[in-house]
Amino acid sequence: MAVARKMNQFIEKSSWIRRMFEEGARLKKIHGEDKVFDFSLGNPNVPPPDIVGEKLLELARSKDPGMHAYMPNAGLLSTRSAMSAYFAKEFCTSMAREQIVVTCGAAGGLNIIFKALLDPGDEVLCPAPYFVEYSFYADNHGGVLKSVPAREPDFNLDLERMEQEIGPRTKIVLINSPNNPTGQVYPEETIARLGEILKAKSSQFGHVIYLVSDEPYRKIVYENCSVPCVFAHYPDSLITGSYSKDLSLPGERIGFVALSPSAEDGQKIIDALTLANRILGFVNAPAIMQRLVEALQGVCVDVGIYKAKRDRLVAALSGFGYELTVPCGAFYLFPKSPLPDDIEFIRLLQEENILCVPGSGFAGPGHIRIAYCVSDATIEGALPGFERAIKRCKKM
Ligand code: PLP
Repeated sequence: MAVARKMNQFIEKSSWIRRMFEEGARLKKIHGEDKVFDFSLGNPNVPPPDIVGEKLLELARSKDPGMHAYMPNAGLLSTRSAMSAYFAKEFCTSMAREQIVVTCGAAGGLNIIFKALLDPGDEVLCPAPYFVEYSFYADNHGGVLKSVPAREPDFNLDLERMEQEIGPRTKIVLINSPNNPTGQVYPEETIARLGEILKAKSSQFGHVIYLVSDEPYRKIVYENCSVPCVFAHYPDSLITGSYSKDLSLPGERIGFVALSPSAEDGQKIIDALTLANRILGFVNAPAIMQRLVEALQGVCVDVGIYKAKRDRLVAALSGFGYELTVPCGAFYLFPKSPLPDDIEFIRLLQEENILCVPGSGFAGPGHIRIAYCVSDATIEGALPGFERAIKRCKKM
């Protein structure tokens, strides 16, 4: 067999997105691009703010020496300084630039965190449903992903179950807020209680259990919702984030890891993260992107555009009879599948030329994920099909 056995299994496991992609291409060939309504990918459709292009042009024209040189493994000092000044506001705590490592997106951030913290067999505990890549990332570094179902219908953390599941091998508790695929933002009280549980469990098992908060959607929040900062509630915590969604730059691979200023052994952890960045082969985050985000701290796409899409879909789908909790962040809806088998319902939607991902693909069966970072025309074009599909279920 050419490919490693484990990779073969992984390819099978990760095939939902691939199947959707292939199905989308097939349907587009038959019906035309504008007749296929693709809600399967979290690829932002809102263009980056104008200032992104302007700043990129300026950087591209620069003749400064070293513009395209290898960067320090932890990132340019000036970029880390700009981040630390902004994070002091965003994360409600002042932090030195040395507490920050610039990464290739949050995906790169999670991989360096896992590389830095996990020994073989260590467990990463996270609520389900979860971003499907987590299990691959944990495995990359010898870790094992374990999940605990979130509470329904609001998908808040089930703290009691999490407390029961934290064991002697738990090294990391991983949360993601705003959440992919549910759009849920965990309230401050939940994070505070989680912090207490982790303190007690760390002393019970005699080692630090780290809290890792994956926050690439931190700025994509609606109404008065905001994402509480884990640093305020637990000392041994790390945040990874990125500019993929808030600047609409997912292909450019730029993000960060920030370590709580109160973490034990902070310098060792930063050294490990920095080395991991190098030896995982990222070497450093892209130079031009580091300089770009240095100048654009706090800039974000117009979140009102996503809110309008969310509101339109929520109103229409609820009217058709779909059951859902209105999410206050990210750009995903996670309604209940009208059929108990979400994969069967996804097939019904495909017959309407609508592509969504089954909740089963996120360890959240019985639901479907709708990524609404798409054009208004896609949303409007899909609504009659969403209505017909649920009506067919009622007759089944
Ligand atoms: N974490 C979650 C929950 C995501 O949804 C994504 C991307 O969709 C990532 C991490 C990776 O994001 P990035 O592009 O910053 O690597």
